[in-house]
Amino acid sequence: MTPLLSVDGLSAGYGDLQVLHDVDLHVAAGEVVSLVGANGAGKTTLLTAISRGLDVTAGGITFDGMDLRSTRPHHVPDAGLVLVPEGRRLFPFLTVEENLVLGAYTKRARKDSKDSLSEVYELFPKLLDRRSQLAGSLSGGEQQMCALGRGLMARPTLLALDEPSLGLAPIVVDQIFDCIQDLVTRDITILIVEQNVSRSLELSDRAYVLDQGRVVMSGSAQELKGDPRLGAAYLGEEVAHES
Ligand code: ATP
Repeated sequence: MTPLLSVDGLSAGYGDLQVLHDVDLHVAAGEVVSLVGANGAGKTTLLTAISRGLDVTAGGITFDGMDLRSTRPHHVPDAGLVLVPEGRRLFPFLTVEENLVLGAYTKRARKDSKDSLSEVYELFPKLLDRRSQLAGSLSGGEQQMCALGRGLMARPTLLALDEPSLGLAPIVVDQIFDCIQDLVTRDITILIVEQNVSRSLELSDRAYVLDQGRVVMSGSAQELKGDPRLGAAYLGEEVAHES
């Protein structure tokens, strides 16, 4: 079966700094795939390059049959690939609902924006309660829900999540992971970067391990979870902080 997302021999970086080296990664429709790696391994850079927020120096990115390297960056969400960036990047002086509605700016999402909004409020009832509140006044967990909701408003086929639980208290982390699990049952394919590696492997089908911008391991999440090399490096060090 042709993967939904194929990344082949991808190299990218910032100016003279090459961060990603010859990365191959494939995500099939309906899968949840984790990207694991130490700080600075290039995980955010890879998600950014895939969603075309960064110039690629070599290699190819194919999504749903489209060559993304020749697609303008602002057309990528219209193709169905949506990034929820690290740090949420909400508009703090707009209300929750205004932030959400902005997520439906693409051609593919605009006509269904009312239905999408109802679905987001069904998934995150807290956002309905807070719909008229400024996004900047939400708690860290609510802001993350708002960022996820805004991503969903674009009606993605594939949602790329960069550190969705970063800085959240353990109980809020549970809620965020429950929501991600819920998205899986709604046929959304997920590529996730998470510092909470064991939690993210629990809901993943497969994972890739990045080290200094190269894929050094890949396999089923189950296999990797039991791999002592991964365990020693990433599975014992998870600390959650409230923001
Ligand atoms: P973390 O878990 O700490 O977020 P990461 O695996 O996501 O790390 P990246 O953020 O992709 O790693 O960073 C990879 C490398 O690229 C690092 O050496 C970082 O310093 C560098 N880098 C990241 N963003 C930029 C930028 N905007 N300009 C220059 N260098 C950058």
